[in-house]
Amino acid sequence: MNIILLGPPGAGKGTQSARLVEHHGMRQLSTGDMLRAAVAAQTSIGLRAKAVMDAGELVSDEIVSALIDAELLALPERAGAIFDGYPRTAHQAEQLDGILEKHNRQLHRVIELEVDEEALVRRISGRFSCAECGAGYHDEFILPQVPGTCDRCGAHEFKRRPDDNEHTVRKRLQLYRSETAPILPLYEQRGIVSRIDGMAPVDEVYRMIVKLIGTPSEHH
Ligand code: ADP
Ligand code: AMP
Repeated sequence: MNIILLGPPGAGKGTQSARLVEHHGMRQLSTGDMLRAAVAAQTSIGLRAKAVMDAGELVSDEIVSALIDAELLALPERAGAIFDGYPRTAHQAEQLDGILEKHNRQLHRVIELEVDEEALVRRISGRFSCAECGAGYHDEFILPQVPGTCDRCGAHEFKRRPDDNEHTVRKRLQLYRSETAPILPLYEQRGIVSRIDGMAPVDEVYRMIVKLIGTPSEHH
């Protein structure tokens, strides 16, 4: 099972991917995470991408598609892929078709997380994560059970993304509308798009996704 989680920044793609990875044995392929890792490691891609990301602009199609291609190569054949934050342009969608074909994989479903735009700014402004294991939290909606301690790994250090500020969020939302939303009709024509209410609580969104894709044993 290979799926795309589609939705604007803050829709909950990373949150739901983490659950699918933990409970469903799938692998998350997040171009945002890959690019942040490249920035942290100061690779040539990271050095080029940093300013673009800080401005909320899109990194080139060639760079992100090459990252996805490399990750798929490293993915065990039987592990399902969750594309998170990719594809983001019509050209990337086209490139993904070619990449999947090359890796002998099929795209089974595109799940659109529908959310209210004004809520997104609030979600993104409150987003933080564990500096150690990357578990995601929110200032109002998803706090660690023990204040200051990561639920997953027990660490006490947290971090925020430099691009999670209101100005950049508006830019990212605008690009979602102009570049990313227009790729949906392509997948609609193939009859593989499902829409889910991304404003529901995390557990409920997860239940709806699992209902759509089935449990792991049903994949064989
Ligand atoms: P994306 O990966 O789509 O950009 P995230 O999964 O990082 O979005 O979620 C953005 C923020 O909103 C995070 O702080 C996350 O904890 C919070 N969040 C995610 N899903 C929900 C939800 N269903 N209800 C409330 N807050 C959520
Ligand atoms: P995300 O973690 O998905 O919110 O992505 C963070 C930033 O990384 C985006 O604002 C872009 O600058 C860049 N980025 C991530 N994925 C892509 C992509 N598929 N295409 C272009 N830029 C991307």
